[in-house]
Amino acid sequence: MNIKEKLKNLDCEIITDVSLKKYNTYNVDGTALAIAFPKNIAELKTVIEFAKDNKIRTKIIGNGSNLVFSTKYYDMILINLKYFNDLKINDDTITVASGFNLMKLAYKVSRLGLSGMEFATGIPATVGGAVFMNAGAYNSDISHILVSAKILMPNLKIVELSNEDLKFSYRFSILQQQTDLICLEAKFKLEHGNVNDILKLIENRKERRLASQPLEYPSAGSVFRNPTSEIFAGKLIEDLNLKGHKIGGAVISQKHANFVINYDNATGDDIKKLIMETKAKVYEKYGINLKIEQEFVE
Ligand SMILES: Cc1cc2nc3c(=O)[nH]c(=O)nc-3n(C[C@H](O)[C@H](O)[C@H](O)COP(=O)(O)OP(=O)(O)OC[C@H]3O[C@@H](n4cnc5c(N)ncnc54)[C@H](O)[C@@H]3O)c2cc1C
Repeated sequence: MNIKEKLKNLDCEIITDVSLKKYNTYNVDGTALAIAFPKNIAELKTVIEFAKDNKIRTKIIGNGSNLVFSTKYYDMILINLKYFNDLKINDDTITVASGFNLMKLAYKVSRLGLSGMEFATGIPATVGGAVFMNAGAYNSDISHILVSAKILMPNLKIVELSNEDLKFSYRFSILQQQTDLICLEAKFKLEHGNVNDILKLIENRKERRLASQPLEYPSAGSVFRNPTSEIFAGKLIEDLNLKGHKIGGAVISQKHANFVINYDNATGDDIKKLIMETKAKVYEKYGINLKIEQEFVE
């Protein structure tokens, strides 16, 4: 039996030679050996053990809202935890599985009058991807509300790491250093607040995002981190007259220069080239080495 046949026989939902287009928010195409959708921890372990035995790389993907895939063939098994979607709300404490949609969660708890996740209503992540990235906005982020996270370790034991153990800093958690750790579940502590005030704040921010960001096109959010709280990456790029600049189907948004959009059938390679070229131009002009927030999947 070849590897694809063996994969199809595993006790887990698996698609082989999978097109990646619907698994990333840039909507770029690419192909991977397989994507697995385990329904529980036993199935997840089966996939990981199979990959290990057959020396195949694995990578967890959430909503793919921070990923740039290239056009190459990925000889790896992507693992998506969409079936890990349990949610328990106990007064102000939320226990949620890592495949749960972060925006959906933020709206749900906000409507219950729980405050602390307002920042997340515009971030199209899964809970696991948001913990990995310490995703945030408006001076808040996951580290402000996370109590602990259940992690599947490389030895397939599950441990509970505290907020401190996860070593959060700006858009960083320890999961980025040890990429074989898998976030299975997160526990958040919120505060009781006034539902109308919470929803009003969310609505205001939504209007601001809609007015300033090109959300009508596929993207992965901001490309570069702002170098300081006073220097904005978007402004540096705009001042170089790069709005509208394109490579293939990838374009620097006219609406917000820190967004690259898939304007017309872009490939991940177009997007990467445009990002790297912009970074080089900013460095050449200002001597500022912009940090890329998105991940080029190798
Ligand atoms: C329109 C738009 C707006 C955005 N706005 C913001 C914003 O305001 N603030 C912000 O911080 N980000 C923003 N982003 C970026 C993105 O949503 C975040 O980086 C998010 O945290 C990525 O989550 P994801 O589930 O999509 O992860 P993916 O992009 O699928 O994966 C990102 C990384 O996390 C790892 N990972 C995913 N799940 C797990 C898991 N369970 N265990 C271990 N590792 C895992 C993956 O292997 C990968 O390395 C935006 C993106 C878009 C498209």
